[in-house]
Amino acid sequence: MTSQRTRNRLMDRLREKGIENEAILEVMSKVPRHLFMDEAMASRSYEDTALPIGYGQTISQPYIVARMTELLFAGERPLRKVLEVGTGSGYQAAILGAFIPDLYTVERIEALYKHTRDLLHALGYRNITTQLSDGSWGLKQNAPFDGIIVTAAPETVPDALPEQLAIGAQLIIPAGPQDSAQSLHIITRTGERDYDTKIMESVQFVPLIRDSNK
Ligand code: SAH
Repeated sequence: MTSQRTRNRLMDRLREKGIENEAILEVMSKVPRHLFMDEAMASRSYEDTALPIGYGQTISQPYIVARMTELLFAGERPLRKVLEVGTGSGYQAAILGAFIPDLYTVERIEALYKHTRDLLHALGYRNITTQLSDGSWGLKQNAPFDGIIVTAAPETVPDALPEQLAIGAQLIIPAGPQDSAQSLHIITRTGERDYDTKIMESVQFVPLIRDSNK
């Protein structure tokens, strides 16, 4: 159920759905998604669905992980230093960590943060820095970033995130109300004060929670 054949079948499914970046598919076929979730769920790890990881959160659907990664890589800037908001299971971080020399990922739920920090360390990632914090403020001390990817959906895009992009860098973020259609936004910083926003397909994410007392 976690065999290479099962994983390759999932990659074929992602190709059918329109993923074209073979380097991303190659990495996704190797990263053991079943290690990023509860053992009880492991038999479903190579299905193309989001699955619960506890605390009311989910590990993202493989298609969405591939799609957001592909969009991030389609930008103009080389991706040296990237921020992910919403570490969760760490699966998206592990995929990004295969390519990006300096990856920061932030999570607001302490138990998830600790579990994933230890897992990524045990799997040998030394280029991923995990942090417990409210990512709606970005990560100012490490900005600017060559790209930012957000894996939870705010109703509207928090100002701090586009402001922490380097010029030419992109923010990939789902946004919209929880109970109706959210859509994937690509915001490119085109100048010191200039941003270009593209709205892509509809998606469904858990909410980005803003901790108001910080
Ligand atoms: N990238 C994850 C997706 C996890 S779901 C994966 O591959 O598994 C989204 C995660 O975002 C949840 O763990 C949730 O706790 C976290 N989150 C929600 N609001 C947040 C915030 N303001 N700052 C940081 N993390 C947040």
